[in-house]
Amino acid sequence: MYDLIIIGAGPAGIFTALELLKNGSRQRILIAELGVSMENRHCPKDKTQKCVNCKPSCYITTGFSGAGAFSDGKLSLSCEVGGDLPRLLGEEKVQALIDYTDTIYLEYGADPHVEGITEKEKIKNIRLNAIRAGLKLVDCPIRHLGTEMAHSVYSRIQQHLLDSGVEIRFRTQCSDLIIEDNVCRGVVLQDAFGNGEKERVFAKNTVVAAGRVGASWLEELCRTHGIERLPGTVDVGVRVEVRNEVMEEVNQVLYESKLIGYPKPFENKVRTFCQNPGGYVSQENYDDALALVNGHSFKEKKSENTNVAILCSHHFRVPFDQPILYAQKVGQLMNMLANGSILVQRYGDILSGKRTWAEELERSNVRPTLKDAVAGDLTSAMPYRTMVNIISFIAAVDKVVPGFASDETLLYGPEIKFYSNCVKMDENLKTSVDGLYCLGDSSGWTRGLMMSSAMGVYMARKLWAEEQQG
Ligand SMILES: Cc1cc2nc3c(=O)[nH]c(=O)nc-3n(C[C@H](O)[C@H](O)[C@H](O)COP(=O)(O)OP(=O)(O)OC[C@H]3O[C@@H](n4cnc5c(N)ncnc54)[C@H](O)[C@@H]3O)c2cc1C
Repeated sequence: MYDLIIIGAGPAGIFTALELLKNGSRQRILIAELGVSMENRHCPKDKTQKCVNCKPSCYITTGFSGAGAFSDGKLSLSCEVGGDLPRLLGEEKVQALIDYTDTIYLEYGADPHVEGITEKEKIKNIRLNAIRAGLKLVDCPIRHLGTEMAHSVYSRIQQHLLDSGVEIRFRTQCSDLIIEDNVCRGVVLQDAFGNGEKERVFAKNTVVAAGRVGASWLEELCRTHGIERLPGTVDVGVRVEVRNEVMEEVNQVLYESKLIGYPKPFENKVRTFCQNPGGYVSQENYDDALALVNGHSFKEKKSENTNVAILCSHHFRVPFDQPILYAQKVGQLMNMLANGSILVQRYGDILSGKRTWAEELERSNVRPTLKDAVAGDLTSAMPYRTMVNIISFIAAVDKVVPGFASDETLLYGPEIKFYSNCVKMDENLKTSVDGLYCLGDSSGWTRGLMMSSAMGVYMARKLWAEEQQG
């Protein structure tokens, strides 16, 4: 019997354990993680140059530190970015949590330098252009770890947790929750391939922090166990790639330009997300071999391109309540057109109503950094509303970043964020089932490294308060 079982060793899960230890907690903690330990996380694509669809799970998205390990390691230091936690806890509380969590990252070796705060006049000018284009520029200081530093920071945290007696079972998946009389008693664990013996493990409290990779699994659990949810949204879009020269000013001044717009006629929220100056477009694989596009950058090794996601939020109302499935179907259609890979198309070809051919990509200034992306036609698979939103938004961003809407600008798809299953909880993070807590991206309340880590810290403080009360 454990005091606490944490499902998922991503930032949300590991910061829960870390903060409990910091407070002097004596709880017996078990973390069950689908992927492998830090030192064993290697993406074979570095050697094969091609995604080999690793089984039982992708090395990029699973393993200690979850999707954080191979992420760009951009820690957004503003509560306006990275999720909806301020809606639950209030802006002031979340900002204080972020400031505190940042000190832990620094303690474990993060770069003290913060991007996006010094060049005030230039920021003012960028904001003026954004206003003229009908866009909002969000202020967000960034601490950039880069993929290499993210590895070393999370490796140190892993070592500390192990040295402090936290039990971490790698290559172990949680297949179900044990819920009786609306109380969560523990979890059912199995090997990561899902074919070993099932073990029932009991605990006073269970925290599910399964990330985007576990979002559809958690959605299913909510459905079968009646765990209450709020209406979800889904973000579908593309990853855009341009030459560094085009983005030079915003890269230098802001590192990441967080722009938000509501283009006509649909007026859905469309935003930039996860900008990677000198970065690389990457592929990640999810259940059912769904291939999604993402991006990251290294601290030292730089490409000639900058990539950034453009995401369009869709809100569904009754009777439809399966936003994750909706997004998966869109993604699968795009994968099908690219023979299971990522599709890439030039912006100018989209406007001209033609597909892109591989040889046309060779002629451009901008060469795809995702080498095995397949040139084709995104418009044959992207929903009309999403495509129109993206085209209009790119045209608006061009007024802030001239050259962004060039014919040769590359659009990769599908880029989808699976945090749409929003678990209902109160300000103590209590779900509708006693003893069950849900954190991070799979809970639907966060969508970034810093906010998911901060949610873990907050969770730990609540559990520590409970422990002290006996
Ligand atoms: C390529 C890439 C780049 C990114 N770049 C940035 C960035 O620069 N800045 C930023 O703020 N965010 C970035 N993100 C997003 C960020 O990584 C996530 O928001 C963050 O990791 C979420 O933390 P989490 O703990 O909620 O979930 P995750 O980090 O996804 O961790 C969840 C863990 O749960 C495990 N798990 C899932 N299901 C089960 C199960 N059934 N049983 C056992 N274990 C399970 C998974 O293996 C995983 O390790 C990036 C993501 C990717 C993929």
